Amino acid sequence: MTLYLARYLLPISAPPIEDGALVVYNGRIAAVGRRPELLPGFAGEVVDFGDAVLLPALVNAHTHLELSHFPRWTATADRSSVPTSFVDWLLYLIDLKRGLTEDDLAASLQDGLRQCLRSGTGAIGDILSSPCLSAGYAASPLFGRLYFELLGVEQVAWQGALSRLEAQLMQGKFGHLQPGVAPHAPYSLSSEAIEAIFAIAYRKSWPLTTHVAESLQESELIEQGTGEFLKRLYPAVGWADYRPAAFNCSPMSCLNQQGGLQPNNLLVHGVQVSKLDCRLLADHSVTMCLCPRSNERLGVGRAPVADYRAAGVKLALGTDSLATNDSLSMWDELAAAQRCYGDQLSSGELLTMATRNGAEALGLKGEMGTLSSGAGAHFQVLSLADAPDLEQLEEYLCCHGNSRPLIALYLAGVERLQSLL
Ligand SMILES: [Zn+2]
Repeated sequence: MTLYLARYLLPISAPPIEDGALVVYNGRIAAVGRRPELLPGFAGEVVDFGDAVLLPALVNAHTHLELSHFPRWTATADRSSVPTSFVDWLLYLIDLKRGLTEDDLAASLQDGLRQCLRSGTGAIGDILSSPCLSAGYAASPLFGRLYFELLGVEQVAWQGALSRLEAQLMQGKFGHLQPGVAPHAPYSLSSEAIEAIFAIAYRKSWPLTTHVAESLQESELIEQGTGEFLKRLYPAVGWADYRPAAFNCSPMSCLNQQGGLQPNNLLVHGVQVSKLDCRLLADHSVTMCLCPRSNERLGVGRAPVADYRAAGVKLALGTDSLATNDSLSMWDELAAAQRCYGDQLSSGELLTMATRNGAEALGLKGEMGTLSSGAGAHFQVLSLADAPDLEQLEEYLCCHGNSRPLIALYLAGVERLQSLL
């Protein structure tokens, strides 16, 4: 049994505590409280972090770690300028990936897994487009979900991929990651394909994640069946003959008609949404993962968090991949979220998005995301030499967490940071 002490402790499930203390036994949290309550008479090992804050490991609810070497791949002279408009960026990424080997992607994935741990992340919602890389998660201590990506409009292609995926999902966990499925987006799957995937996922209780309502180009395609996706993206990927229907509704409403609004489907981006769409999400108990830095990089707009909040939609936070972001650090993402949404969401709400809400969306309710008795001992410790008052702690962490040294990361009670430094 070990007692961990720190000047501050942030349980997330309760208000911040000064002179915090956490008792861990056998990889799980046995008690949470204050030093004067838990230290006297404690017989086990005591670890005192001093001027520091102890809080749950962060949860990166949306990423594509196989793309973590994107900045390295694009550093060559002929690829030095990465487009920032949505369709140009997609075409650039597709072309770039065609030139990569399995080894390139495997090394990139490993680096991504390490970058997450080094920045205090304990769980990921990771999307993998190359199923052959799934063994790469086996040795990682990260928790969460590994979503296998599905896309395509030709029946033979997506049906073949779906049946191969069923076999993959039967294999059980990949390391600590539970497998799931990522029907990529309403614009990259035929309506027939996405409906079939949602129906089978519902029957088999597969965890899902889907990109939706990210760009205006997606809205135009779904509403009118026209636009840049049809004219430029489809011919580039061999879908020139594919003619999607015009649904005359928003991408979110379309996804609802296709069976995609399931509580088990973690939706991602949700920038182009109306108040009506937000109510639809709340009615279906769907969590929306916001990716503010990725949205900013691609210039697709900003998610209407006031509308989400008013409708009662549960929000999580993710970095997306390094193809649209500068880092995989959730502390950096929190700082961006504070800048983008800080006038509409409190610092406490932002931290909850990056911990408890993300954990719940990845099937880790009661296990990760809060410091409470009975939960797994998944926590991190940040050094706080110039510590603020307790009342300012949450705001301070959202603004400055990314600049504070991470001094420990425990997952299931085991320290994981030192071996990475
Ligand atoms: Zn993504």
